[in-house]
Amino acid sequence: MCRHLGWLGADVPVSSLVLDPPNGLLVQSYSPRRQKHGLMNADGWGVGFFDASGPAPVPRRWRSPAPLWGEVSFHSVAPALRSHCVVAAVRSATAGMPIEASATAPFTDGRWLLSHNGVVDRAVLPRAPGAESICDSALLAAAIFARGLDQLGDTIVEIANADPNARLNVLAANGVRLLGTAWGDTLCVLRRDDGVVLASEPYDDDSDWEDVPDHHLVEVTAAGVRMTPLDPPKGP
Ligand code: GLN
Repeated sequence: MCRHLGWLGADVPVSSLVLDPPNGLLVQSYSPRRQKHGLMNADGWGVGFFDASGPAPVPRRWRSPAPLWGEVSFHSVAPALRSHCVVAAVRSATAGMPIEASATAPFTDGRWLLSHNGVVDRAVLPRAPGAESICDSALLAAAIFARGLDQLGDTIVEIANADPNARLNVLAANGVRLLGTAWGDTLCVLRRDDGVVLASEPYDDDSDWEDVPDHHLVEVTAAGVRMTPLDPPKGP
């Protein structure tokens, strides 16, 4: 399973979320603490953020199929990249999936940034245009974008019904909303004074980190954090 992180709050340097924390995505790329599937996340990384310098926030991405720990140019530039809304991931590719930048989260439809932590049988996914790769996560992202993020919870439950072995932890943000699902893997939330972090695992030992229960949807907006249970998958 990959590890991912989302941020909605004040304008902060991307490095302060991804590189600097003692157990942030950089350390999680080689030594995750809570990962249940796979030992490390060396098959690529992606950092997406909303650029608010123009009239409307625009999603921008930097993705690579190389391990995050070796990306010295990104390490140099990341302190100068600031955003109020970030979706970032380090990847442990599922067997059989391509290792290429286009298969690496976050994916986008031009409005949302989306990361998937998990695995899903591609045969059960509704066909949708615009997938960036044949990777399961890219096809899942296209299906979620086509259905609309307002339907994220229903979409996850339907796909889980079609593939009971699927693990469907999704993070998505559009600059004003940050959504996360816990479905088969860990998801944690940290409410800071200056914003909210959703992450596969805590990036430090702050006692304010809370675990999101499995089969839940989390929505973060300026109004706060809301957690909603998702329906359990139906039996055979
Ligand atoms: N299945 C996705 C991939 O191959 C995500 C893998 C993961 O969460 N480790 O990239």
